[in-house]
Amino acid sequence: MAQTLKVKKNDTVQVIKGKDAGKRGRVIEVAPRENRVLVENVNMIKRHQRPRPLQNANRMGGPTIVPGGIIERPAPMNVSNVMVVCPTCKRPTRVGTVIKTIKDRQVRVRVCKHADCGQEIDKS
Ligand SMILES: [Zn+2]
Repeated sequence: MAQTLKVKKNDTVQVIKGKDAGKRGRVIEVAPRENRVLVENVNMIKRHQRPRPLQNANRMGGPTIVPGGIIERPAPMNVSNVMVVCPTCKRPTRVGTVIKTIKDRQVRVRVCKHADCGQEIDKS
């Protein structure tokens, strides 16, 4: 069974391990099966793009080569390397869950674990 991650898309997270420790960013994507998250501007990797010939370019008399270069993009990182930043107290926090009843339906909401905060993380 895949467990539900505490981190969700569009959360702000802070990196707690690795070369980007201390950085914050927005979660672009979560991969619950792999326990991985993709965070904006964090864990950037450089890809060297080699120049390569353009297909079908000669007909138009245009450039025949795609210029090479370095492309930077974020790489997925393990979810245990990040902590959710509480939108209320702005501190990285562990995430707790509480069950709330809204309109007779039970919903699970994530809450900040800081004793002096305890606010809901999911804005709804
Ligand atoms: Zn908080």
